[in-house]
Amino acid sequence: MDRAAVPAGEDGRRRIARTDVLLADPRLAAAAGRLGRGVVKAAVTGAQRRARAGEIPPDAVADAAVGALPPTASGLRPVINATGVLLHTNLGRAPLSDAAREAVAVASGATDVELDLETGRRARRGRSVLAALLERVPQAEAAHIVNNGAAALVLAATALAPGREIVISRGEMVEIGDGFRIPELLAATGARLREVGTTNRTSPDDYAAAVGERTGFILKVHPSNFRIEGFTRSAGVAELTGLGVPVVADIGSGLLAPEPLLPDEPDAASMLKAGAHLVTASGDKLLGGPQCGLVLGRDDLVRALARHPLARALRVDKMTLAALEATVRGPRTPTEQALRADAAALRERAERLAARLRLDGVDAVPVESEAAVGGGGAPGVVLPSAAVALPEPFAVRLRRGDPAVMGRVEDGRCLLDLRAVPPGQDDAVADAVRAAAR
Ligand SMILES: *Cc1c(COP(=O)(O)O)cnc(C)c1O
Repeated sequence: MDRAAVPAGEDGRRRIARTDVLLADPRLAAAAGRLGRGVVKAAVTGAQRRARAGEIPPDAVADAAVGALPPTASGLRPVINATGVLLHTNLGRAPLSDAAREAVAVASGATDVELDLETGRRARRGRSVLAALLERVPQAEAAHIVNNGAAALVLAATALAPGREIVISRGEMVEIGDGFRIPELLAATGARLREVGTTNRTSPDDYAAAVGERTGFILKVHPSNFRIEGFTRSAGVAELTGLGVPVVADIGSGLLAPEPLLPDEPDAASMLKAGAHLVTASGDKLLGGPQCGLVLGRDDLVRALARHPLARALRVDKMTLAALEATVRGPRTPTEQALRADAAALRERAERLAARLRLDGVDAVPVESEAAVGGGGAPGVVLPSAAVALPEPFAVRLRRGDPAVMGRVEDGRCLLDLRAVPPGQDDAVADAVRAAAR
């Protein structure tokens, strides 16, 4: 039915253009080529529904559908992290550096991930990123990369302790988050947990008494999201390396070397220096890279993991390899920049941003704020920060905006904490607040 053929003044819904007519709109037809027909059709259906509900006039449906088109064919949308939590689990933990994003873009096509272009022969997958890791952590004889920190633990347990015991302190039986518990993860591999010590105190003697013929390895787990204070004792890696079994240290955060700003956070180099035989860690926490799990340490142990049949099920894709290498070799990551951001500079940014917004009539006030590492790193560490405080209703409007801005609601205000916002995004934050004020 032709739109023009419908007499004006009839039931409004009949004047809403049909789907096929709308899809023929040159803008929507071009979008279908870019995003796929299904994505465009969903935008069209949504716009028709709004017209039927009387939210928009019938002749605005095509424009509304164009306006509702997502920027990509994926449902994932960009978010500006103004929560003050550097590694926000629900926002995908570490944001990648530009260097890593570029590496991902290159690797996303056909790439020489398992080919030596010089000889034309098959080459070892991930060889250059493994070399990069070993350059950064010379204490490690070998390295292996899996899908995440949990996968590194599963592979270690499966390859080194099948049907055997993993000796672990009762003070290190950690729940990572979202109900995932390291002891249950390990038990799921068929290994048995041999718990030693108590919640607050475990001594080297506790480990020594438990180690025996059935021991696969000793596991030290960094309490990365909680702290036990008071009458406490735990055994350091160096105190456990003489018991005749491998010591595996799960450091969580992925720091390759000590970070002076986070003195209590373990790092791979120090753990290996202390005698750990294997270190496992996440790639998307303080290392600031893509989601992946790192295994670093003694050559024979790393090889036992890498050659285990399960390794194939836990391997990472070429884009992860590219992003990790660019993270390890490249410039300071956004996570590191956020960690090191100077509090005075953050305050200046907050003052400037708030002043600009007040000129536009927004009730914006610069305030002091407290940021945190988050995401399973440096529990209890407070990073002095600065924020722009807005009336609370802004929180929801900013979250629903494009780009979405995630602040944090505190004392009836919406705080936009700038520590995890790259300075280059202040303009985008200002635009988003102005849009939310309208
Ligand atoms: C985060 C964390 C894990 C799990 O790592 P994922 O990369 O989230 O799978 C394991 N152990 C510790 C100590 C952690 O902090």
